[in-house]
Amino acid sequence: MATNTQLPPHIEKMRSRVGVGFKKVHNPVGVYGARTFESLGYDNSLNMDDFKNNLEIQVSFCDPDRVVFDVVHVDAPIANAIRRILLVEVPSIAVETVYVHSNNSIMHDEMLAHRLGLIPLRIDPRSFTVWKKGDEVTTQNTVKFSLKVRCEMNKSAPRDDEAPPDVLYKGHKVYSGDMKYVPMPGQSFAVPPAPVHDDIVLAKLGPGQDIHIEMNATKNIGKEHAKWSPVSTASYRLLPEVTITKEARGQLAMGLKNLCPANVFDIEDDHAVVRRPRDCTMCRECIRETPFSDHVELTRKRDHFIFDVESTGVMPADSLVTQALNVLVEKCDMVLEGLDTAIKRSSGGDSDVDFTAAD
Ligand code: SF4
Repeated sequence: MATNTQLPPHIEKMRSRVGVGFKKVHNPVGVYGARTFESLGYDNSLNMDDFKNNLEIQVSFCDPDRVVFDVVHVDAPIANAIRRILLVEVPSIAVETVYVHSNNSIMHDEMLAHRLGLIPLRIDPRSFTVWKKGDEVTTQNTVKFSLKVRCEMNKSAPRDDEAPPDVLYKGHKVYSGDMKYVPMPGQSFAVPPAPVHDDIVLAKLGPGQDIHIEMNATKNIGKEHAKWSPVSTASYRLLPEVTITKEARGQLAMGLKNLCPANVFDIEDDHAVVRRPRDCTMCRECIRETPFSDHVELTRKRDHFIFDVESTGVMPADSLVTQALNVLVEKCDMVLEGLDTAIKRSSGGDSDVDFTAAD
């Protein structure tokens, strides 16, 4: 059995870093095989206790719309699972069914319905159940809205044909803020449901035109349709590392500082020093040409992920991350349960084990 002795530096670097060259990336794929380095006496297997002891999460920015945090000492598949769950498996509420009573605007009913579906709604979905086609509409699975706007001449507008339509007509633009929550009997909220933004233009009307629509908003996930995705972006990048491999001083140091668009370098005692490596965008300008390329090395830390999550506004960004982690835990439990069942069946003499039972 291999023990955790240190790997030789060049192999450790290959294992733990992604090299960034000017024309190509080195070692982009991680080494996850448990026995890959066994001959060197290094145990590369995933150990649950080590994982628990080493995992670090540091939040560097958090407001209701955006959270930036570092997850350190995890493998890419886990970080990627969190990202993908944020995109398509954290539920939200969006308009699903639209009843058009009247729409004589220039916009087709289908297009208008599509636009209504994409309006982010500030409603916490956690107390709701998922509505499926054919299900009864209840206070637990549906929030109703109505949209009723009519465009008329503005009698107090100046008699000037050159005046903009917003001045000449009342109700010329139909905004998301015109969507009004319609309470169902027995349904109540601390804060009435409403669109996150009031100023999204849904359609434009001419005098005499009107739109009258009723709609049902329901809970679902982005995997079903992108309108239920609660995030604008959920991305990560590996921690950049900028190393000065050979002392750069004088004009060379000043040149290095000046060519970096992210202001990563400073000058100290006539030497170039790396001051803000985290700001590096990996533009590779500093390794484009000699003599600078002889002095700088760029790498990324393979197990250090900087997440940037932006909410559409339907829920606070930090709450979305917590929910994504809960979904990941549920998935792990499901796999464990499936494996447990499979092992029990296998040990009971059933050789035809159905691993799809985990579904
Ligand atoms: S890669 Fe670009 S941003 Fe990063 S240190 Fe070099 S010049 Fe600056």
